[in-house]
Amino acid sequence: MTHDTVEKTPLTLLGLGAMGTALARAWLAAGHPLTVWNRTPARAAALAAEGARVADSAAEAVAANTLVVVCLVDDASVDEALAGADLAGRDLVNLTTGTPAQARARADRTRERGARHLDGGIMAVPPMIGLPEAGGYVFHSGSRDLFERHRETLGVPAGTIYVGEDPGFASLYDVALLSAMYGMFAGVAHAFALIRKEDIDPAALAPLLADWLIAMAPSVHRTADHLRSGDYTEGVVSRLAMQVAGTPTFLSTAEQQGVSPELLSPYFALMRRRLAEGGGDEDLTGVIDLLVR
Ligand code: NDP
Repeated sequence: MTHDTVEKTPLTLLGLGAMGTALARAWLAAGHPLTVWNRTPARAAALAAEGARVADSAAEAVAANTLVVVCLVDDASVDEALAGADLAGRDLVNLTTGTPAQARARADRTRERGARHLDGGIMAVPPMIGLPEAGGYVFHSGSRDLFERHRETLGVPAGTIYVGEDPGFASLYDVALLSAMYGMFAGVAHAFALIRKEDIDPAALAPLLADWLIAMAPSVHRTADHLRSGDYTEGVVSRLAMQVAGTPTFLSTAEQQGVSPELLSPYFALMRRRLAEGGGDEDLTGVIDLLVR
C-alpha cells in the first residue's frame, strides 16, 4: 500500500466560520473524507467544490461519521446545533472556545447522550491552520482513549498537546495563555502611548519592545519554581522593595507624557500590597497569591 492509498479517517465538521473553514481545508488537503455543516449554507459552497460533502442539517452531518468535530462561536451555539442530533456512538471533539465549567458540563451531557467527549482549545489563528511551521497547536483534554484514537487526524490542522483527563483543562490552559497575552498587549499599549506625541517612530520602538518582551519571557520559569517550592525569594534578582520604589517614576512619566496610568496602576497597587505584607525580598510571585480568592 502506498502512502497515497492509506485510508484517512472520515470525519464531520460542524461550523464553517473563519476557523472552521481553515480546519476543513486542512483535512481536505490531507485527503480525509469530510462532511460539513454550517447554519448558513452558503458558507459551505466553496468547500463542496473542494471535495467536502455538505449535509443539510447538523443531525445529518453527525449521522455521517463517528468522529464529529465542532467549531462554533460559543457554547450556546453548540447546544443549539446538537439539539436534534443523535450522538449515540459518536466521538465528539469540541474545539469551540469556552470556560472549563462549560467543557465539564458538556462532557457530562455528551456521555449522557451515549457519546465520548474530548475538549479542545485552539492556540492558533486561521492562517496558521494547516501550516505546521507556523507553530499553532490545540490543547486537548478529556478522554485519553479518544485523544489517542484520533490523535493523527486531530493533528492534521495543527499540533496537539494533551493536558489531562479533566475535560476543563484544555479551556483552562487556553484561557491562561490568552490572559497572559492580554497582559502583554496592555503593557505594549502603554509603551506606545508614552511615545505617541513625541517625534519617535513607532517602527523604531517596535523591534526594541519585541526583543525586550522576549528577553523577559523566561522569567515565567522562575515564577513556576517559586510556586512549586513555596520560597519566593529563591534566585531573586530584582527585589520587590526596589521595584515598588521605582513605581513613582513610571507614574510620573505617564503623567508627564499625558498618558492614563489605568493599565499600570492596578498591578502597582498589588505590588505595594505585597510589600506591605512583608514581601520585600521577593520579586513579583507574591502578587499571584493576592489574586487567588
Ligand atoms: P466565526 O465568527 O467566523 O464563525 C462562527 C461560526 O459559528 C459560524 O459557523 C456560525 O454560523 C456559527 N454559529 C454562530 N451561532 C450559531 C448558532 N446559534 N447555531 C449554529 N451555528 C452558529 O468564528 P470562528 O470560526 O473564527 O471561531 C470559531 C471558534 O474557534 C470560536 O469558539 C473561537 O473562539 C475559536 N477560535 C477562533 C480563532 C480565530 O482567530 N478565528 C482563534 C482560536 C480559536 P453562521 O455562518 O451561520 O453564522
